[in-house]
Order: sequence, then C-alpha cells, then structure tokens
Amino acid sequence: MPEGHTLHALAGRVDAAFAGTAVRFSSPQGRFAGSAAALDGARVEGAEAHGKHLAIRVEGARVVHVHLGLFGRFSVRRHRRVDRGEAPTDLPLTGQVRLRMVNRTHVGDLRGPIVCELVTDDGWEEVRSGLGADPLREERLPDAVLARLARSRRAVGAVLMDQGLVAGVGNVYRAELLHRHGLDPHTPAREVPQRVVHELWDDLVRLMPLGVRTGRILVADDDVERARTLLADGGTGRVRPAYAVYRRHGRTCPRCGGTVVKETMAGRNLFWCPGCQR
Ligand SMILES: [Zn+2]
Repeated sequence: MPEGHTLHALAGRVDAAFAGTAVRFSSPQGRFAGSAAALDGARVEGAEAHGKHLAIRVEGARVVHVHLGLFGRFSVRRHRRVDRGEAPTDLPLTGQVRLRMVNRTHVGDLRGPIVCELVTDDGWEEVRSGLGADPLREERLPDAVLARLARSRRAVGAVLMDQGLVAGVGNVYRAELLHRHGLDPHTPAREVPQRVVHELWDDLVRLMPLGVRTGRILVADDDVERARTLLADGGTGRVRPAYAVYRRHGRTCPRCGGTVVKETMAGRNLFWCPGCQR
C-alpha cells in the first residue's frame, strides 16, 4: 500500500498540473460520472494530502476525496494535444479510468481507488478529523496523540500503523523506525518512554519529506546523507535504500548479527530483529 509520502508527492503533482486552471472532469469507466459531470469545467484550487488520503479542492467549496487503497493508481502526465490543435478531451485512454482530469497541459487518470467521492469542504474536514496526526503536516506531535499513546496497551508496532492515531506511516517506515530505536514491536505503547515517542515522531518528521522528494523510503543515515547530497547537486536523490529489517527475514541483522524474523501484526507483515529490539 502506498505510504503517506507517496500521497503527499501525488498531491504536489496534481497541484502543479491543475491548480488555478479550469479542468475537464470525466469518468470514462462511469462510476464517478454524475459527480464528474457536476465538476466539469470548474476551476481546481489545489490539492493536499493527509496521511494516505488525497483531497483535490475545486471551486464552490467542493473536494474530490481519494484513497488509493492497495491497488489504486493516479497518473499525472503532460500532453501536447492542445499545442497540436486537438481537443484535450480526445486523449487516448487505457484501462478502467474512474476519474480523468484534463486541462490544456496535463491529464490525470485515476484507476482502481477504494474511495473516489465528491464531498464538501466540511465533508473533507470530517474525514480529516477521523485521521491521526500526519508527520508531513505537523512538526510537533500533538498532545492528544501523546495522551492516547500513553494510555494504550496495544503494541507500539500496531499503533504506528493505526491511521486514526498516526496518519501515513506504513509497513516500511514502521519496521525500520522500530529497528532504528531498538524497540520490540510488541511493547505496549504506554510502556514506551515519552522521550522515545518524541524521538520516533521527530524521525518521521525528518525522514518523510525526503520520501516525498525522492519517492523512496530512506531511513538509514548513510542513505539519507547520500540522497541529500544528490538532491543538493540537482539530482533526484533516488538512492537504492538499504533496509535493516524490512523484507530481510532469515537474514542477519546489520546491528547485532541476530536473525531478522517475519510475523503478522495489524494485518500486515512485520519484520524485526529479536536480537536488538528489546
Ligand atoms: Zn539486531
């Protein structure tokens, strides 16, 4: 499943392509046809993400709320139809496109989302109110989340994936972060010292923007440093990430030499090292 940084990067692409322009909305596949017709020709104001949710703001206090789920894809690309004197609505189409957005320069095709709905501004705020704190939106861990963690008997490995508490963290960040901090994923959240909770949060605030910029989940200090250097030189920063535990079950932990294991937690595969995560 795409993690939060993917959605924030997507929001950035949608924003760059469509914000401030009149957009043709359609639903070639048909399942968003009524809403697309209502939006067709309206001006897009911008796009934002919260956790794994995307909001495309459209004039008239309207929002297209999208959640990609496991298999959804939203491709945004440049086209030259208008430059060639053609109608932008005649762009070729492949697959089941739930939502198509077209303006003079770009086309966006959304396929296979679990949510694609037209809501009001208030409706989007309601969605957001059910979501946890997003490290890409808030630099400081909100007191309310801290308080809930301090009460929770649930495993820290499960609460990190609870989108109602922390929004946007997925399987890779979870595994690598817990390893970085030497935390056993089964530790009840309330037994994790507040100092460590703040360190986990600060790590997410520091690391996830790099994920947005590079499209890669980079956690290891060496990877982070190399990506930063590449970005500073004008590159994409696309370092091949070296993970300590993610998908490394049966292999040796780079820190303690123990064997990395895999188990299921919060419905997803969890990778960790019993040797040094205590
Ligand atoms: Zn280890």
